[in-house]
Amino acid sequence: MSTDPIALAQGVLAGDRRSVARAITLIESTRADHREAAERLLHEILPQAGRSIRIGITGVPGAGKSTFIEAFGLHVVEQGHKLAVLAVDPSSPRSGGSILGDKTRMEDLSRDIRAFIRPSPSGCTLGGVARRTREAMLVCEAAGFDVVVVETVGVGQSETAVADMVDMFLLLLVPGGGDELQGIKKGIVELADAIIVNKADGDLAVAAKRAARDYTNALHLLTPASAAWTVPVLTCSALERGGIAEVWTAIGGYRQTMAAIGRFDERRAEQAHAWMWNEINETLLQTLKDDSSVATQLPALEREVTAGRMAPGAAARRLIKAFRHGN
Ligand code: GDP
Repeated sequence: MSTDPIALAQGVLAGDRRSVARAITLIESTRADHREAAERLLHEILPQAGRSIRIGITGVPGAGKSTFIEAFGLHVVEQGHKLAVLAVDPSSPRSGGSILGDKTRMEDLSRDIRAFIRPSPSGCTLGGVARRTREAMLVCEAAGFDVVVVETVGVGQSETAVADMVDMFLLLLVPGGGDELQGIKKGIVELADAIIVNKADGDLAVAAKRAARDYTNALHLLTPASAAWTVPVLTCSALERGGIAEVWTAIGGYRQTMAAIGRFDERRAEQAHAWMWNEINETLLQTLKDDSSVATQLPALEREVTAGRMAPGAAARRLIKAFRHGN
């Protein structure tokens, strides 16, 4: 792979899809020289990034996320937009697969020239996946994709990571009997800027309407993230492609409302600030782990701590001291 970052950046800025794919591959690489090239590339494209609406989507497996993203994506490109779909899938390193890796998912959308779909990078930590997804998002934006969807599975910590990198976070639910909020952590509901009850079709149509009412009532009990925005609860059928236009309209409404009070840019600024500190955390930790004086002392100190002969805090301080003296 040629890794000339300037040439690649030019390709990205020209909207060339192959360059976008190659730029993301470069970003995902763990090789030190690739990392350097990736940073160069990001520097080049950054002035052209940011001009999109970033939408996060979560939901438990089977909620209909890929069916929804396909229906939604096709609607959005029909409206004249260019759409990129990225994924954060912390389960992929273990399963070896990835949520967007299955070629049968989003078949129509993946064939559409106006859409770009990229599976989650595998084999790295959630922090690593999140960083690469953020950077991939910038590449897509610089290439002219003005709607970016980041998908994640509604399990584990990945929702927070995704909510922290998008403008609007959507929670996709399905109608179910009994306690509608069961199985969905309250924390995730609180992250949602809109709730969508999917599978509102056939036998499930009535249950979906009822679920939407129940969620609306349940939301009254939560403190809204923003006083200016009431989290809407919508119903749709991703399968029959019904109710999708309403979701797009709600996204437009959210964007307008947030922009009007300055919150849209403010949220991005906060995210950029938090991202910088995440980078510092990750990079520092890795540098510490790679440090030779730390590596020399680490096994013995770990043994002392696990045997209960040394306080974890004291061991941590000893290691940090060794690191600082070695640098
Ligand atoms: P994901 O795991 O969240 O990505 O879910 P999928 O999109 O793979 O969908 C899981 C299953 O639910 C599939 O069998 C879909 O055909 C089905 N499904 C998705 N959306 C709908 C819908 O709107 N209505 C109905 N009845 N089934 C749906």
